[in-house]
Amino acid sequence: MSFTNLGLSEDAVHSAQRLRYLEPTPIQAQAIPVIVSGQDLIGSAQTGTGKTAAFVLPIVSKLQHHRHTRCLILEPTRELAAQVREACDDFTAFTNLRTSLLHGGVKYEGQERELRQRPDIVIATPGRLLDHLEKRAVRLDQIEVLVLDEADRMLDMGFMPDVRRIINQCATERQTLLFSATIPPRLADLIGWAMKTPLTIEIGRRSNPAETVQQALYPVAMTQKDELLLALLDRTNYESVIIFSRTKVGADIIGNALQAKGHKVEVIHSDRSQGARTKALELFRGGEVEVLVATDIAARGLDIEGVSHVINYDVPENPEDYVHRIGRTGRANRTGDALTIFTAPEQQSVTAIEYLINKPIPRVKLDNFNYTYTTLLQDTAADGRRTRRRRR
Ligand code: AMP
Repeated sequence: MSFTNLGLSEDAVHSAQRLRYLEPTPIQAQAIPVIVSGQDLIGSAQTGTGKTAAFVLPIVSKLQHHRHTRCLILEPTRELAAQVREACDDFTAFTNLRTSLLHGGVKYEGQERELRQRPDIVIATPGRLLDHLEKRAVRLDQIEVLVLDEADRMLDMGFMPDVRRIINQCATERQTLLFSATIPPRLADLIGWAMKTPLTIEIGRRSNPAETVQQALYPVAMTQKDELLLALLDRTNYESVIIFSRTKVGADIIGNALQAKGHKVEVIHSDRSQGARTKALELFRGGEVEVLVATDIAARGLDIEGVSHVINYDVPENPEDYVHRIGRTGRANRTGDALTIFTAPEQQSVTAIEYLINKPIPRVKLDNFNYTYTTLLQDTAADGRRTRRRRR
């Protein structure tokens, strides 16, 4: 299978080749011909499957030459929107198409300037787009392709009323593409209302974390969580690690504690300014900082390359967040480790995760760690080797 027989324009094929995409991923092979044909599409796929290129490449092929705003891509978070913009810029490199990125946390002027250029593709988060729509800085009545990306996340984050208001302003004669890791029943209503006889393709169910991620649970008494986190970091031969915390305050506390122990750390969560978040991601991506502490916003589809380890400082209450979190590692068939610190009150959440992924996660006891007693430690094997990085 190659990119040349999917119905893409020469420019689009060229841009994929320039990025050294040798062959389409399964979602690209299935979605691209459908999108090129003009049919509405529901793509149920995990992030990391090449989903962005699956919709951007055919959109670029269809738009061809610069005119006016004809494509709107809605994203739940600023980081995702920025990432999709980067992908659009890569794929429009050989065209005269213009893109614009609209999200909150930054000034309006730069965005208004971009909008005056009548961008062909607008990538936006719902709130800021509505602000621009109210100011009449952008119009959606000539939208030919509408993309609702990470739709289940937009639903979880309470964006559905905003999304509906936005769709109401889009041209009714359009193609609508919806991508979502899961299709919860509440999305069905939106699908029925906003889409025309969509075709559904499903690639890699959400409940199957990448096969290449090795998972382990580390039971410990509540009072020893910090100590265990430090021990895990010390004994883990990581290249780069994301530590997830359920709360923003928790993320800050972990960040400070690690810094005090001499680790180079950045923290990202939604109370940090856009500038601070962007800088943190840049330092982490560039390898200047090896440890990133994050709340779940960072797990929502961020494509950070080469994360060797994910450590969950706490067990996520929502089992799908677990799959999102550990999906940061083991991407594109590379190996990765996901370590989860686990205390007795979190037993129910662990059961829910194991039910979702349909397999037990091994309980592991760290060798030579001075454990205080917790009932969870019964029947847990000591296996410090697990934390060591496997060779690629
Ligand atoms: P996504 O699921 O869109 O977040 O993409 C995950 C990663 O896969 C990104 O780093 C893409 O650049 C990369 N990627 C997408 N399509 C291909 C392909 N056909 N071949 C190789 N890498 C790809």
